[in-house]
Amino acid sequence: MDLELKGKVAVITGGSIGIGLAIAEGLAHEGADLLLVARDEERVAAAAEAVAKTTGVRAFGIKADVARAADCDWVVAEAERLFGGADILINNAGTGSNETIMDAPDDKWQYYWDLHVMAAVRLTRGLVPSMRRRGGGVVLNNASICAKQPLYYEPIYNTSKAALVMFSKVASTEFIKDNIRVNCINPGLVQTPDWEKTARQLTEGTDSTWEQYLDNIAKASAPIGRFATPREMADFFVFLCSARASYSVGSTYFVDGGWLNVIA
Ligand code: NDP
Repeated sequence: MDLELKGKVAVITGGSIGIGLAIAEGLAHEGADLLLVARDEERVAAAAEAVAKTTGVRAFGIKADVARAADCDWVVAEAERLFGGADILINNAGTGSNETIMDAPDDKWQYYWDLHVMAAVRLTRGLVPSMRRRGGGVVLNNASICAKQPLYYEPIYNTSKAALVMFSKVASTEFIKDNIRVNCINPGLVQTPDWEKTARQLTEGTDSTWEQYLDNIAKASAPIGRFATPREMADFFVFLCSARASYSVGSTYFVDGGWLNVIA
C-alpha cells in the first residue's frame, strides 16, 4: 500500500519521546520530513538527529513550549523557514493531571487549556495557510479515551481533552473545503517511558515489580489485557496522515484495546 507520504512535511509536537517520537519514526520511514517540537531542547534535537540518521529524511528538533502563544508562532515561523510550511500537523504534546475540582486553582485549569486546546488552535491557525498553498493537508489531534470516559483523579485532563475532541470536529468542517482533513485519536493505555518511570517509582520497595504494576492496570482496564506499544499507536496515526485515509474527515477514533465502555 503506497501511503504517498514521501516528501511531505510533518510538524509533531511532543515529538521527542513516547507516542510523538513513534509517530515521527513512522512518518520518517514513509519518507516524510520532520519538525519535532518539545521543551527539552537537547532531547528533541537528539531525537530528530537519530530519526534523520536511520531514515535519511530531513528532521529538525526545536525548543518550544506549545502552551505559550509566542512559542506557537515560533514553531510556525520555523516550519516556514526550514520547509516552506507544512503538510501535516500532529498536536500530540500533553500530559496527565492530578487534582480535585475543589482544590485546583484557576491557573492550573488555564495551563492545561493552553497546552491541550490552545496549542492545537494556534498551530492549526498558523499552519493552515501553508497547507492551503501546498494543496491540502492533515491535522491530527491526540486526545485520550479520558475525553469520553474520565478517570476520577484528573478532572482537568478529562475536560481539556474533551474540548480538543470538539475542536477537531469544528476544525474539520471549516477546513475540508481546502482539502485539509482534521481528525482526532483517543488512545487508551500506551506504554511510554513515562508510564514505566511512574510504575518504577510506585513499586520501589514493594513486593510488586513495575511490570506487574502495569500488567495489573492493563488487565483491570482494557479487555485486550495489555498496554499498546507506542509503535502500535503510531501506525494508526501514520495511516490517517496518508492518502489512503482520504475519506476520513472529522472523526474521533478510539485506539484503546476495547477499554471504552459503550452504554446504549
Ligand atoms: P510523554 O510524556 O511520553 O511525552 C510527552 C511529549 O510532549 C514529550 O516530547 C514532551 O517533551 C512534550 N511536551 C510536554 N509538554 C509540552 C509543552 N508544554 N510544550 C511542548 N512539548 C511538550 O507523553 P505520551 O507519549 O504518553 O503522550 C502523548 C500524548 O498522548 C499526550 O497528549 C497524552 O495526553 C496522550 N495520551 C497518552 C496516553 C498514554 O497512555 N501514554 C493515553 C492517552 C492519551 P518535553 O517534556 O521536552 O516538553
